[in-house]
Amino acid sequence: MDHTTKIIAQAKIEGRVVLLEPEAKTICVEYGIPVTKFKVACNEGEATAFAVEIGFPVVLKIVSPDIIHKSDAGGVLINLKNATEVTSGYRKIMENAKSYKPDAKIVGVLVQEMAPQSTEIIVGAIKDSQFGQTIMFGLGGIFVEVLKDVNFRIAPLTADDAKEMITQLKAYPLLKGFRNTPPADINALISILCSTSRLVMEHPEIKELDLNPVMAYPNGAKTVDARIILE
Ligand code: ADP
Ligand code: MG
Repeated sequence: MDHTTKIIAQAKIEGRVVLLEPEAKTICVEYGIPVTKFKVACNEGEATAFAVEIGFPVVLKIVSPDIIHKSDAGGVLINLKNATEVTSGYRKIMENAKSYKPDAKIVGVLVQEMAPQSTEIIVGAIKDSQFGQTIMFGLGGIFVEVLKDVNFRIAPLTADDAKEMITQLKAYPLLKGFRNTPPADINALISILCSTSRLVMEHPEIKELDLNPVMAYPNGAKTVDARIILE
């Protein structure tokens, strides 16, 4: 059995519909969607060892089935530059999680590669009751929240569909490179859209998927946060 099928089956057994970030990212990797390197630590020592292995700076995040929006819970610390910062960061995240939700089940702390800041992209999928699996693409931040500059297509996507979803955005000129914004690797984004389409078509039990954000670089792209919700 592939990882994706196993992870989904295990979540069902445990009665969970929201996959943990490391689970969602393992699925991404299986479908060729690039993600930041990551490992789940269960104590400070492990967190430090994984940070050394991954390379500084790192990001620490809470892993809990009871905390879906991690930053709301003080569960995300970015740009930790050495072992001392990772050790105190680990403690801080545990404290924050406990005060946010005292009865939250904590799986551990996700240690991950810090992705350099760049243009933030959002890739989504939603299972529409009428149209079935539908893919969304937009730019992060104000572009989605204020300007609603997003495009939708019904899956499965061809590479041409994916390209249109990107080039028909009002903000497309930004992706081509504009003043201080370097150009984004459009082929890397097309590939992420097509892989996302393949994933949700092969796993119809996925109700919602969110890659938010994906950092788009002149060469490649990297998913920094991934969320998958099952039916
Ligand atoms: P949330 O569950 O709150 O959505 P995220 O994992 O998206 O948590 O983290 C919140 C923000 O922190 C992201 O939107 C991004 O700006 C930043 N961030 C998270 N992980 C990384 C990373 N690995 N590298 C760089 N920035 C990150
Ligand atoms: Mg996020």
